[in-house]
Amino acid sequence: MLKQFSDLGIIAPLQKSLADLKFSKPTEIQEKTIPILLFQKDDFVGLAKTGTGKTAAFGLPLLQLIDKDNKSIQAVILVPTRELGQQIYTNLISFATYLPTVSIASICGGISIKPQMERLKSDTHLVVATPGRLIDLIKRNAINIKNANYLVLDEADEMISSLKDGLDEIVKELPKNKRTFLFTATLPGTIKQLVQNYMSKHVIQVSVEMETVGHQGIDHQFVVVEPIEKLDVLMHFLASKEGERGIIFCKTKAAVNKLAKNLAINKFSSGAIHGSLTQPIRDRIMEQFRAGYINILVATDLAARGIDVKEISYVVNYHLPDVYDTYVHRSGRTARAGANGFSLTVLQKEEIEELKDFEKALGITFKEFKKADAQSIEENNGLLWAKKIFKTKPNHTVSPEFKNKIHTIFHHLTKEELIEKVVANYLLQSTNSTNLKEEVIKSNKNR
Ligand code: ADP
Ligand code: MG
Repeated sequence: MLKQFSDLGIIAPLQKSLADLKFSKPTEIQEKTIPILLFQKDDFVGLAKTGTGKTAAFGLPLLQLIDKDNKSIQAVILVPTRELGQQIYTNLISFATYLPTVSIASICGGISIKPQMERLKSDTHLVVATPGRLIDLIKRNAINIKNANYLVLDEADEMISSLKDGLDEIVKELPKNKRTFLFTATLPGTIKQLVQNYMSKHVIQVSVEMETVGHQGIDHQFVVVEPIEKLDVLMHFLASKEGERGIIFCKTKAAVNKLAKNLAINKFSSGAIHGSLTQPIRDRIMEQFRAGYINILVATDLAARGIDVKEISYVVNYHLPDVYDTYVHRSGRTARAGANGFSLTVLQKEEIEELKDFEKALGITFKEFKKADAQSIEENNGLLWAKKIFKTKPNHTVSPEFKNKIHTIFHHLTKEELIEKVVANYLLQSTNSTNLKEEVIKSNKNR
């Protein structure tokens, strides 16, 4: 792969922004895709693993192909989630730094539609959209996509399986002779049939290293736990990753809320994201995660598709996903742009058989992660407890009389003596609860 972006036909202003972004050479999917999109007339299917640069593979050619003198919307990029839409919009804006006449709009749901309607009154060449909001705008006659000659479906398999009705409504609005480009890291068999419904007869398919589904840079591991120790094992793992960024995937919104609450109680720098939170909250959490203000994102599969955050060093599957492909997308949030990553799946012993099915289906192997022993979990919980106390803010509503009485009790103790007593008290209580947990675990084993 010795080619440069210029060899692929990318124009100078785009080369300049790529240099700013430190994209020194095209990735393989970019090298294979860009000339076809730029110089041929066919529909296109691009298959490449997670984190290999598919956004630029379609984004750069589109920015170049757009007729800047034509004031109508010429390209529609459809994505399954608002977060991904926002990310792709931001990517396109940075690619287009030196193409000031290109006008790009993000029209994703969850935020007020009025400003978007206003925005669309000025000339727009390219829109990034989630289907629901785009349909809403079409119904209000606030957008005209009848002249759009390019349609991109990013995360195409998800678009076609989960969002098919909306997609069909949008496709009806677009000209018949448009070009359609699909991009995905996973294209299950049944979807292949559907692709035929959306594409012309002349489809060029490019796939890069798709023989094995799993991304090479990812170390897949699993750990077997009893339900009662699950949170402790997770917190021990998270403490070992302090200062690193990771995403923890849960199966349901309720599970996300519960885990996020537990992590917050234990003072982990974390935030939750799922579909029932309001968009401003979702946006704020994503921003804080991207900016590194929070290190741990607890999420449903909402965050599994397409999200690209630099230096995510690990992903945890707190629940096994239902579908094999979901595992690929979740673990694909780490090891992006050539980096390495770690994907830990937390299992109960009944699920080990299922894990073997994942291995077979995805062509990956899971190594067993050595679970922390009881003593180091105990120690970790103690440290979390101490940090929790350290981070507790003084309660100013406590009456001075009450505070005085407490003071009198501790009055003669030095700080060291007080710490020793408090620790001893903690250990006494935690030993009781550990004994209880161990009994539960034993009785589970004997069942
Ligand atoms: P995909 O859609 O294939 O999962 P993205 O388009 O989100 O991947 O890109 C993954 C990461 O790789 C992004 O952080 C992006 O900035 C980076 N990237 C993309 N192309 C290049 C390149 N040619 N050189 C260096 N980094 C790149
Ligand atoms: Mg992508």
